[in-house]
Amino acid sequence: MKIKEYYINPTIILNEETHEYLNTVTNSIIDLKSVTNLVQNIYPFDASNIPPAALEFGIEKGICVHNRLSDYIINNNIGYCDHSANGYPIRTHSSEFNWIKRHLDKIDTLEVYSEVSLSNGKYNGTFDLLYKDLDDKWHLVDFKTTSRLNEDKECLQLKFYEQLLQDNFEDIQKIDYFEIYNSKNEIHYKFKESRLNSSEILKEEILTKYL
Ligand SMILES: [Zn+2]
Repeated sequence: MKIKEYYINPTIILNEETHEYLNTVTNSIIDLKSVTNLVQNIYPFDASNIPPAALEFGIEKGICVHNRLSDYIINNNIGYCDHSANGYPIRTHSSEFNWIKRHLDKIDTLEVYSEVSLSNGKYNGTFDLLYKDLDDKWHLVDFKTTSRLNEDKECLQLKFYEQLLQDNFEDIQKIDYFEIYNSKNEIHYKFKESRLNSSEILKEEILTKYL
């Protein structure tokens, strides 16, 4: 199957509230680990040093920015943020959305896919953005809204998504660029071959050990 066909009629959807993946054909929950679960085996998320209110604030911002970006990519709708703190709008929600939006506006694409949920029978995952550029090269992108940078973790995560894409779609056998847009730090970068190779090895080890 080509991703274009799947995108119109996806058979896997993510329930964002319960974090459960649902197979829409059989109407059943897919009881497999997610990419996030797999990555956390190696890079656990330690929230103990983060005040609960700050953690909650960060999660809310992440959801807001991601949802607006998805709506923008799919519907070209810039949307709005109705979150507020102490009666004032939370400016970072919109400024971070706008920072990534400005970068996306500069890209010319042949195909664009936002937030697609996939399973390969071993694990599930949902990537942020995949697009094909004018040179027929595939770019797999993740949006980050936190200052806590871990490039090894980010790269590993993208390699798991690449595997899901390869296992599902005949037209995606190779991802050409693995990229991060970090709106909190206002940086965009692509992973180099050496890091991608390390992540590939680590990915295989995790699949052997944890599945
Ligand atoms: Zn918001």
